[in-house]
Amino acid sequence: MPAPTCASCGVARAALRRPRSGQALCGSCFCAAFEAEVLRTVLAGRLLPPGAVVAVGASGGKDSTVLAHVLRALAPRLGIALQLVAVDEGIGGYRDAALAAVRSQAERWGLPLTVVAYADLFGGWTMDAVARSTAGSGRSRNCCTFCGVLRRRALEEGARLVGATHIVTGHNADDMAETVLMNFLRGDAGRLARGGGLGSGGEGCALPRCRPLQLASQKEVVLYAHFRRLRYFSEDCVYAPEAFRGHARDLLKRLEAARPSAVLDLVHSAERLSLAPAVRPPRPGACSRCGGRRGPCEEPPGSPACDPAAPAARPGPCACE
Ligand code: SF4
Ligand code: ZN
Repeated sequence: MPAPTCASCGVARAALRRPRSGQALCGSCFCAAFEAEVLRTVLAGRLLPPGAVVAVGASGGKDSTVLAHVLRALAPRLGIALQLVAVDEGIGGYRDAALAAVRSQAERWGLPLTVVAYADLFGGWTMDAVARSTAGSGRSRNCCTFCGVLRRRALEEGARLVGATHIVTGHNADDMAETVLMNFLRGDAGRLARGGGLGSGGEGCALPRCRPLQLASQKEVVLYAHFRRLRYFSEDCVYAPEAFRGHARDLLKRLEAARPSAVLDLVHSAERLSLAPAVRPPRPGACSRCGGRRGPCEEPPGSPACDPAAPAARPGPCACE
């Protein structure tokens, strides 16, 4: 049976059916619709005001690649300037190849790129060194927990270095739904109460952060990369299989098979979820081990994550892809 005609332009043959709506579109109309939806998310949420200098957290993966490409197309309409900021966590056999992908994107798209390394920011500590120091201590499965805190701080430092006023990350709807599930599974009412919006306005002296792809499904992010012929790095981090997120991802896939709207339902649930102030847990106090401003931590004393000057940990998914 021949492919139907595109429901938007009515001229070209449809190349896909949109996973959520079932609408048959050609590649070009799909990409235009995807970009228009991201624009709507940014404008409706007032995420990036005209004049903003936006640091794009670039990992070389599909999400940040698509985010940078879409924002580059929208930048003239939004009146924003873009800077790519990549974080080198010091993960042998993984990050070097991913950074090579980011460098080639920056060159191809004519965007300035700054790379910040854990080793430079955290007294020589790399993620591999943190993993070695926690191996066999009963905390070896927590690499992403440490890394999430460090990445957040590294991205903030990199953004400040380039004079950014805002930070954007490539988290998509599936990432957000996984985070909501993880918070439920952990019974983390505090994060559920704080973590549902499209971004944060910048607590304390932190730069405002947002996730323009938060309402875009992972499938459509991949389709956009395909039709725009974007090249990205698609291998998983060597520590990713240890992460609890993998269990939430498996569960979400099964939920989505039974109920296709499960991903967006979870994202919107988190947006609507608000707990009465009386039942919100207090903000974390000083760490009992390191004296820092985060709650009690499990980091090995002296490690970069166990830093009294470290900013308070905030809710949100792993900052990588
Ligand atoms: Fe860090 Fe992401 Fe790797 Fe976890 S999966 S260790 S957060 S880079
Ligand atoms: Zn079309």
